[in-house]
Amino acid sequence: MSYTNEILKLVKDKNPGESEFHQAVDEILTSLTPVMERHPEYQKAKILERFVEPERVIIFRVPWLDDKGMPQINRGFRVEFNSAIGPYKGGLRFHPTVNLGILKFLGIEQVLKNSLTTLAMGGGKGGADFDPKGKSDNEIMHFCQSFMTELYRHIGPNTDIPAGDIGVGSKEIGYLFGQYKRIKNEFTGILTGKGLGWGGSLIRKEATGYGSVYFAQEMLATRNETLKDKVCVVSGSGNVAQYTVEKLNELGAKVVTLSDSSGFIYDADGISNEKLAFIFELKNVRKGRIKEYADKFGAVFYPSRKPWSIKCDAAFPSATQNELNENDAQLLLDNGCYLVSEGANMPTSKKGVDKFLDAKILFGPGKAANAGGVATSGLEMGQNSMRLSWSSEEIDTRLKKIMKDIHDTAYQASIEYGDKGNYVLGSNIAGFVKVADAMLDQGLV
Ligand code: GLU
Repeated sequence: MSYTNEILKLVKDKNPGESEFHQAVDEILTSLTPVMERHPEYQKAKILERFVEPERVIIFRVPWLDDKGMPQINRGFRVEFNSAIGPYKGGLRFHPTVNLGILKFLGIEQVLKNSLTTLAMGGGKGGADFDPKGKSDNEIMHFCQSFMTELYRHIGPNTDIPAGDIGVGSKEIGYLFGQYKRIKNEFTGILTGKGLGWGGSLIRKEATGYGSVYFAQEMLATRNETLKDKVCVVSGSGNVAQYTVEKLNELGAKVVTLSDSSGFIYDADGISNEKLAFIFELKNVRKGRIKEYADKFGAVFYPSRKPWSIKCDAAFPSATQNELNENDAQLLLDNGCYLVSEGANMPTSKKGVDKFLDAKILFGPGKAANAGGVATSGLEMGQNSMRLSWSSEEIDTRLKKIMKDIHDTAYQASIEYGDKGNYVLGSNIAGFVKVADAMLDQGLV
């Protein structure tokens, strides 16, 4: 058995039932097999054994009172995965599906993603099995305050800097920040995605979506093409999807779908900026269902379905993990889709990824394509340390440059390891080598 296969077996044996974590590790290790052959020093120092084991996992009870005065109990987590190249950094997810396996998959992806950003950030992830859907503002605030009442002792501007993810936006970050400040009596950059008036960064909220489109532009540039007039399918309708559509519109592409957990809408005329304004209001203010878009603009609503059967040039899966399986991948390919840029984390199943790689389309895996969000979080941390803020133009220019650097680094690594244009291989290898070398330098810790 190869070294990487031994490690995969170890991970499966030691972490039973954590299927998403197994899936992420499997994909990473498949890419790393040639690296291990070239670098026997990694095996000697048991770098992989250490790499797949989080440095620390914190699991805690989150008690809170709902609006009826009834006690509610959730489970909170913070997975501090790897701090070899910087403090732990990564979002918090509030969603009923959150469990340890999901946060470990997100954590290990974050380690590689953050390494690719060129900034000094280790990887972490956290959250709770709390469902913000249908909760009042008061309930969300009480939950956030209780969550931070435990989390505060584990984080800090030089230790661990959480941010948002699914179910955690500017409102939740505000409540979490307020509670930290109250407990510690300290105004420091312990979270990113903060409000603009109290330490936040311009372009942070746009950054994941914009970055995923910038990454798509870079992939297309290798074939001397642009996004102009490309028909695009986007899934999701949250923060990432919204700003993906905004940037695609700006670049002259036509976006024809958006989705939520109830189904997807197909608008053959394209989701213009005016129609997108309705989505912003529907999803960010009223928290309504996507069908309302179809009712309002005469588009088609497909209940309980995903948008992958729609004919397109490019797809931007921007909802959640495993939303695109091998059959969906085949449908996209059969319909002529030749670019996929993952705005979500691990939205494509392993077999789906293999289909895209076999077909040699432009496939940008999440850890590269959606790194713009955390990269801009890194820029927020930099501004907080300087107690200064940069203009939108400055940040957008930096974001574009970071996405280009990530693209070029992954592309170069794919060439160096003999599979030009395989961004899965390239980003896993480039992200890993930087972390592995830092781990070697720092000794057995
Ligand atoms: N949740 C985002 C991600 O998956 C952003 C994390 C951050 O800004 O720390 O990368």
